[in-house]
Amino acid sequence: MQIDTSTLITYSTVLMVVTGGLFVLFWWRETRTRAALWFGLPFLMGAVGAACLIDTHAGPSSPNLKIGAWFVLMAYGFGWQAVRVFYGRKPLPVYVIGSTLLWLVLAMTVIDEWRLFVLSAVIRGVLVTAFNGLSAFEFWRNRDEQLPSQKILFWIFAVYCAFDTVRTFLVSIIPLPLGALPAETWAIVMFNLMAMTLALSVTVFMIALSRERVSKANYQLALRDAMTGVYNRRAYFDHMDRLGQVQDGAQTGHALLVFDIDQFKSINDRFGHETGDMIIIRAAEAAQSVLRKNDKLYRFGGDEFVCVLPDTSFDEAFAAAERIRRTFRQLARDTGQQALDVTISAGIAISRHAETPDHTFARADKALYAAKQTGRNRIIMAPETIPA
Ligand code: GH3
Ligand code: MG
Repeated sequence: MQIDTSTLITYSTVLMVVTGGLFVLFWWRETRTRAALWFGLPFLMGAVGAACLIDTHAGPSSPNLKIGAWFVLMAYGFGWQAVRVFYGRKPLPVYVIGSTLLWLVLAMTVIDEWRLFVLSAVIRGVLVTAFNGLSAFEFWRNRDEQLPSQKILFWIFAVYCAFDTVRTFLVSIIPLPLGALPAETWAIVMFNLMAMTLALSVTVFMIALSRERVSKANYQLALRDAMTGVYNRRAYFDHMDRLGQVQDGAQTGHALLVFDIDQFKSINDRFGHETGDMIIIRAAEAAQSVLRKNDKLYRFGGDEFVCVLPDTSFDEAFAAAERIRRTFRQLARDTGQQALDVTISAGIAISRHAETPDHTFARADKALYAAKQTGRNRIIMAPETIPA
């Protein structure tokens, strides 16, 4: 098969322009997120670079080839900047322009004259390796966000970084544009193919990544109670489901504390719904001020809250509930115009080996019911067995 490299590069130029343009359009139409615009830049630079390289019969000393190679180098560097911007970091264009410009100045001045072709190829190789490696690093250091496409993008850049490292070591025995020897068709095709494969996969996975980020944020929002900001009932079941999966149906030892405001209906009736809302917010604040970092608080419904306290003993859970009861009573006093005396009742169950979260909850809820039945403003521990 005869490959016409000029036609190949022309196609690549057009594709890069279209992709770069699509990122700009994406930014303009939908999100206006800065990152999309930054992602357009490397493609447009790659397009300018490729356009300068279309005439593959020009000699290696032609300034067009040098300008073209410079833009291609910058395209990799600006790819790294786009990833930084995506993760909310400051872009560092000066480093990219500075380092690549240094190569261009060398290429325009001493390289031809002193026949430093290997050195020139090594510098180019080191720059591309560094830029791809730094892109991989940005994805790696933001791995806590745990988005599926993030891992894929890390590996794409890591593999390119590894390939470019090997290529940089071999420049003296491989042809341009991969190495330093006079250009050969296979090397041009391979270089082009690698650049286009990188461009295509980055486009697909970056768009996927930005969508994943939005849907994760929406999901997190759906797990929160709008009024108090604490987790809601859906989050409770979601977390318990996950706990069940991890433990294969059984759960680890945790204390489940269910509490509910006493005679809350009468607060609403006497002081109005707005004061009622404030009291609910105080209840969440009281619990949050007492709970530890790994404890979780859920607003289960109206005036009822659930706390999950991992690795917590009977006594510790009781002490926590008692502190919530006291703190809430104090906070509630300072709500509204009149001094309010509002209390809570709580039920506690300690999860048992091989017990489902639903069973633990049923026991804690029974205990809460018992607290309500026996006069309210008290904490009751669930008996060991599930009450009939
Ligand atoms: P008990 O001591 O038995 O718990 O009595 P109670 O009056 O508190 O009874 P219950 O817990 O069943 O009442 C909950 C009330 O909370 C019913 C509902 O009108 C009110 N409520 C539910 N959600 C909200 C809310 O978001 N804001 C306000 N202000 N009231 C709410
Ligand atoms: Mg109540």
